[in-house]
Amino acid sequence: MPIYEYQCGSCGNTFDLLASRSGASKHPPCELCGAQDTERIMSGFFGRSGSGGGNGESSGVGGACAGCSASSCAGCTR
Ligand SMILES: [Zn+2]
Repeated sequence: MPIYEYQCGSCGNTFDLLASRSGASKHPPCELCGAQDTERIMSGFFGRSGSGGGNGESSGVGGACAGCSASSCAGCTR
């Protein structure tokens, strides 16, 4: 499941949020100060290398960006 990372523009706190609902909120309240001056930041990809199990082989396809819930985002230019 995708994890989005946000940064608070008010206090600079960074926190991450699971995109469990239908789409992630663009400006969730900061966990620290509660300000909604938050911005989603892209910090690496999920599917880190070297974290053990699974198929262990990246087929090179999984190119869906964080904004897409589909397995591919050919039409997505972000
Ligand atoms: Zn904050």
